[in-house]
Amino acid sequence: MTAGAATVSGARLLEGAPIAAEVRARVAADVAAYTAANGRPPGLAVVICGRDAPSMVYLDRILKTCAQVGIATWTVDVPGDDAATQDRELGEAIRRLNADAAVAGIIVQMPLPAGVPLRTVVDAIDPTKDIDGLHPLNAGLLRLGYEGFVPATAHAAMEMLSHSGARIEGADAVVVGRSPVVGMPVAFMLTKANATVTVCHSKTRDLGAKTRQADILVVAAGRPGLVTGDMLKPGAVVIDVGINLVDGHLVGDVDFASARDVAGAITPVPGGIGPLTNALLLAHLVRAAQRQAPVGAPG
Ligand code: NAP
Repeated sequence: MTAGAATVSGARLLEGAPIAAEVRARVAADVAAYTAANGRPPGLAVVICGRDAPSMVYLDRILKTCAQVGIATWTVDVPGDDAATQDRELGEAIRRLNADAAVAGIIVQMPLPAGVPLRTVVDAIDPTKDIDGLHPLNAGLLRLGYEGFVPATAHAAMEMLSHSGARIEGADAVVVGRSPVVGMPVAFMLTKANATVTVCHSKTRDLGAKTRQADILVVAAGRPGLVTGDMLKPGAVVIDVGINLVDGHLVGDVDFASARDVAGAITPVPGGIGPLTNALLLAHLVRAAQRQAPVGAPG
């Protein structure tokens, strides 16, 4: 059986943990080599601008994993009670971190509070420290099909697909969501991998008619239970990126109970894309550190 796949009611369960463990083991070895060569560990700065509940869970896990693999971390809380102050302080915090040689990579907690535009991060962040692929240079490299930093979640969705055994080339792929951090990067990567891609969003008419065409379906809408089993093509590979807090529980954008009887393979929430995103983000951090390091940089 393919790594990370167990079986559930007909659908193979695509679990992130086994793949994430492999990625983390490689990261830990790379961190040890970097630290030995450079006399200090690679450093990650996490910028928090308002404490949105689901993403705090995600960030806490990243910080714990960093501690496990030997990455130094700094958490920077952006001050301010109103959006204008938070916006100004966010830009200044990022610029300070850009100038700090001990910080190899910067991530900013998403979603940002209402009234604080993503553009502030996009304008401020140094592309060489932009390990979650937001800067226009990295977004442009992805768009052009060249190597740069891609958003870790989109990378995780593609990594999960490649471990699922799904044939991407020639597949009809549907992406639900067109955000710059998940939907569009996934759509570009699927296109590069030779899938035929349809991107759906909140104005899409008859979403089910589109999703039922999908051999590969990636859902990143932030709407719990948006996609139900009757909206799937039998045997489809379903990647649920959504993380939603409903009655104190994390759930995805796909109604797992109905989807698992129709899909050929499906990611659970939690336990699917989340752990893999976390591990791949740290792999990006190590790559950034290696590129910035004066010594011990393999390239
Ligand atoms: P976002 O910026 O809010 O974008 C959501 C996208 O979904 C938008 O393009 C929106 O369309 C579309 N959409 C909303 N409602 C829809 C509907 N009813 N039908 C079709 N499309 C709809 O969210 P995001 O940052 O991309 O995140 C998406 C989800 O992934 C969230 O649940 C987030 O928590 C999760 N996430 C998970 C990870 C992870 O590691 N697993 C990481 C990041 C995000 P419009 O463009 O028309 O508004």
